[in-house]
Amino acid sequence: MRILISGGAGFLSSHLTDLLLSQGHQVVGVDNFITGKADNIAHLKGNPNYSFIEADVIKPLSIDGPIDRIYHMASPASPIGYVKHQVATMKVNSEGTWNLLELSLAKKARFLIASTSECYGDPQVNPQPETYWGNVNPIGLRSMYDEAKRFAEACTMAYHRERGADTRIIRIFNTYGPRMDPHDGRVVISFIRQALHNEPLTVFGDGMQTRSLCYVSDLVDGINRVMESDFHEPINLGNPNELTILDIAKEVLALIPESKSTITHHPMPPDDPKLRRPDISRAKQILGWEPKVSRREGLGKMIDFYRDKLK
Ligand code: UDP
Repeated sequence: MRILISGGAGFLSSHLTDLLLSQGHQVVGVDNFITGKADNIAHLKGNPNYSFIEADVIKPLSIDGPIDRIYHMASPASPIGYVKHQVATMKVNSEGTWNLLELSLAKKARFLIASTSECYGDPQVNPQPETYWGNVNPIGLRSMYDEAKRFAEACTMAYHRERGADTRIIRIFNTYGPRMDPHDGRVVISFIRQALHNEPLTVFGDGMQTRSLCYVSDLVDGINRVMESDFHEPINLGNPNELTILDIAKEVLALIPESKSTITHHPMPPDDPKLRRPDISRAKQILGWEPKVSRREGLGKMIDFYRDKLK
């Protein structure tokens, strides 16, 4: 198949690209490098099955030849990234989604939107099943992302229901692994960078807020399975193994025994969800999918990658 990935130079997209190329497909990556990094796709240079277009999908994309699948992955995705690029975040998830849905109709391509656990906001239900409608502050400091993704989901369902577009929706929970931007502020990469540099690990608040961390290879396998399934409503993808942020800091320090770092506490940012854990019953039932990589193994691989990179 010939597969288009918007946001192709992002962390997740670059791993998804590797997976699809290993399956024998052709991949066309599109990115405007707002938060994507050329480094993430540097290893693909010269691969005859890979091509890259530097473009912003908020403008209609003209692309020659057939396209069988469109993964719409483009969007700033870290709290620092989407607060820095608020309008761009809203546009890529609205106009960008719109444009790629139109392209999917024109090319008769299957379309997948990468949505997020942020659709659940600061959840009052834990774990979060897809049937939970969420608790989102519509004007909060994360609203440019949360509401844009909720709009992107609504837009995708409208094209599916009214225009017959062949669509899929995934809600991605916290994911970690090699190729995360060391300075995008997300918790796992921040703690690893700080520990490798012997700087204090910055835990926000008392560190009792929770997250559930999925290793990137499990996540992209899940994304690919959703695309190849026949299910149109949202599917949660993430690892249901929930832990506190303070425990993440302690685990990172235990895996980098040479680090001289300590743990410090900083003020809790506003609108930071207190709990997050995916209910993955739907993914298990429909895709036969669940994460396989333990945190110890995943964090170990990630630390090995950054030991060289962050010297
Ligand atoms: N966090 C932290 N220290 C950091 C970065 C993040 O304590 O240096 C916390 C943050 O407050 C949040 C959690 O870790 O509760 C996950 O933050 P991240 O930015 O990775 O993503 P989120 O899940 O909030 O979208």
